Amino acid sequence: MNIVILGSPGVGKGTYAKILSDKYHIPRISVGDLFRKAIRDETELGKKIKDYVSRGDLVPDEMVIELVKERLKKDDCKNGFFLDGFPRTIAQAEAMEKFKKIDKVLNFVASDWVIMSRLGGRRTCRECGAIYHVKEIPPKVEGICDRCGGRLYQRSDETPQAIKNRLRVYREKTKPVTDYFRKKGLLADIDANYTFEKVGKVISRCEKHFQNLS
Ligand SMILES: [Zn+2]
Repeated sequence: MNIVILGSPGVGKGTYAKILSDKYHIPRISVGDLFRKAIRDETELGKKIKDYVSRGDLVPDEMVIELVKERLKKDDCKNGFFLDGFPRTIAQAEAMEKFKKIDKVLNFVASDWVIMSRLGGRRTCRECGAIYHVKEIPPKVEGICDRCGGRLYQRSDETPQAIKNRLRVYREKTKPVTDYFRKKGLLADIDANYTFEKVGKVISRCEKHFQNLS
């Protein structure tokens, strides 16, 4: 089951992908995490990526494609994956179709108001990348990750100005991709205008689209 996850920053797709990944025992691969790992490990590619990410700009196609292609070769992807954050351009979509079959594209959609309120409260674990929300998914101890005890922080790309920039960039660049997959009959729009209490509703909407997939 090779599933691509699309949706603007703050739509909650990371949370949904994580739940689906646990349920189906198929890895969730977040391109954001691949970026952060490459940056943290200070690989050659990581250094280049860092410049783009810190400005809130999209990373050039050839760099992203290389990262994703290598990751999908790993053994844990043999039964499928939930790929979050890729492809985001037509060039990436076409490149991916050459090295992996895509079974379904889930496109999570939410209003700007919902997105701004979600992202403003988001906190990320420095150690394991787990994501919390001060109101909706608070950690047991403020500022500390439940899973690993790491410190939580607000990412520099989650300030109001950075969010606005990211939404603008996302819309400009990604609309052609959703149109592309829609034409191929692979796209499923998922209404994600819910609080985290109604996560189950969004998940069951996703699962309707998994019928007939191996
Ligand atoms: Zn953690």
